[in-house]
Amino acid sequence: MIDYHIHTHHSIDAEGSPDEYCKQALKLGLKEICFTNHCELDPLRDDNLIRINGEIKPLSQSLLFQLQNEVFKLKEQYAKKGLNIKFGLEVGFFSGIEKRLKEIADGLEIDYLLAGIHCLEHICIDSSKECNRYFQNHTAEKLLEDYFNNIQLLIRSGLFDAVAHFDVYKKYGLNFYGEKVRLFNQEWVYQIFKLMIQNEVGLEINTAGLRRHNEFHPSAEFMKLAKDAGIKIITIGSDAHRIEDLGKGVKEAIEYARSYGFERAYMFFKRHKFPLDIR
Ligand SMILES: [Zn+2]
Ligand SMILES: [Zn+2]
Repeated sequence: MIDYHIHTHHSIDAEGSPDEYCKQALKLGLKEICFTNHCELDPLRDDNLIRINGEIKPLSQSLLFQLQNEVFKLKEQYAKKGLNIKFGLEVGFFSGIEKRLKEIADGLEIDYLLAGIHCLEHICIDSSKECNRYFQNHTAEKLLEDYFNNIQLLIRSGLFDAVAHFDVYKKYGLNFYGEKVRLFNQEWVYQIFKLMIQNEVGLEINTAGLRRHNEFHPSAEFMKLAKDAGIKIITIGSDAHRIEDLGKGVKEAIEYARSYGFERAYMFFKRHKFPLDIR
């Protein structure tokens, strides 16, 4: 088993050291884990932060190098114990990120670059504290339109290996809008999946939704469409923000993917992908 979406205490909303995660991974019998701490770069927001040595600091290239070094040390140490460790980041995409991301990530040896939409109009819809500020001023239809427009930009940017939590707007949106937030434009999303195939961008099966509203991201209606569109690259991650969530739901996610006919999940090394047979 693998887990390709993990936040350590370097993410300001997470806890647990990389070493603690590695120990837990061994305990769970995971074969490979990829750390994907937050990389938020929107200059109009105040969350461009990283926690290093217990201190919260503005995210910078040198601090990312420090994080990378920490992961690389563990990589060596745990390889002997049969655990593969990968260095990734979860980038919060927004229009205009390209230049800033290239600058800050220049020279880093990133294995896996995951990206998700966390913010619309610079408001975090993935935060219980902020989401209502966006929701109150937008209909469910407008939310989905904005969201999927941004997903398209994320894919077209050509910068990322996979899209994180494809329908994350449901995390708080279900509560606010009710079931109508489930209604999406099938034809449009089908074309978005086609765009992902063209750009070789993977679809993440994120198990965090299981712990919140008993559904994976993406939920069932997207999975069928993704398979019909011909998506082949999927990745699997718990989106753990604390040790006890590491690997949670991964086994179920593999079953879930298999039930839609997916035969492989993908792992990454220096931005190259490798299949893992899940049949
Ligand atoms: Zn995320
Ligand atoms: Zn995450």
